[in-house]
Amino acid sequence: MRPFILAETNYAHTKTNPYEVAVLPLGATEPHNLHLPYGTDLFEGTIVGEKICEAAHNKGGKVVLLPTVPYGTETNMHRLPLAMNVDPTTLFRFVTDLIKCCINSGVRKIVLLNSHGGNEMKPLLRELADKVDGHIFLCNWYTVLSDEYKNIYEHPDDHGGEMETSFGLAYFPHLVAKTADGKLTGDAGGTAKTRFDAINRGWVGITRPWHLLTTNTGSGFPHAASAEKAQKMMDLLAERLGTFLAELSAAKIDDKFPY
Ligand SMILES: [Zn+2]
Repeated sequence: MRPFILAETNYAHTKTNPYEVAVLPLGATEPHNLHLPYGTDLFEGTIVGEKICEAAHNKGGKVVLLPTVPYGTETNMHRLPLAMNVDPTTLFRFVTDLIKCCINSGVRKIVLLNSHGGNEMKPLLRELADKVDGHIFLCNWYTVLSDEYKNIYEHPDDHGGEMETSFGLAYFPHLVAKTADGKLTGDAGGTAKTRFDAINRGWVGITRPWHLLTTNTGSGFPHAASAEKAQKMMDLLAERLGTFLAELSAAKIDDKFPY
């Protein structure tokens, strides 16, 4: 039993060992090119959560990892089979209820560890800022290493590309589909452009209809992936986010918190 993972611990532990910080991973269930499992984002959220909470625990942090929310916002995949959508407002209500549980239990520092680009959670932080007796933090873990990304990977990854495929090869290799001669079954992850230059350049945004953007739901080249790349990424994530969680645990909530 790992005392920093709620699903593994027991009441005998929680009644005598209060936590300071709760970490809630937010996943998704959706197709990821032809070779990665539907659970990719939820597996990633759980594994990153375990690694960073373990690192914080080893630094003395009183942190607890909550079970991962397996569903996320998939409205842009509505034409693809079994992309299990939860509308943003529904997700906000659900997460708000879980945040209230933490606060009622005396855990007033809550970190949302988001693992899926479709889950845009910042508006919830704004909405709750004047309504709950706690402090909510948001970490989209896949943005934490933007300064190091090019030192690890060769190709950018939007969805099911080099980074996520490396993640799978390192941490759930039995679920990464390969051909008989050992190659990934996924396509090259190329994407289509819209008819508008302003959208293609990012001056104007849309929610991208995934069945038109991609060939087989992948956006990003997966074939340069390796387990070693993801392990390097995870070591850096555990160092950066484990340190943050340990500092957050030790911090006293006063009038100036978090300044
Ligand atoms: Zn993903």
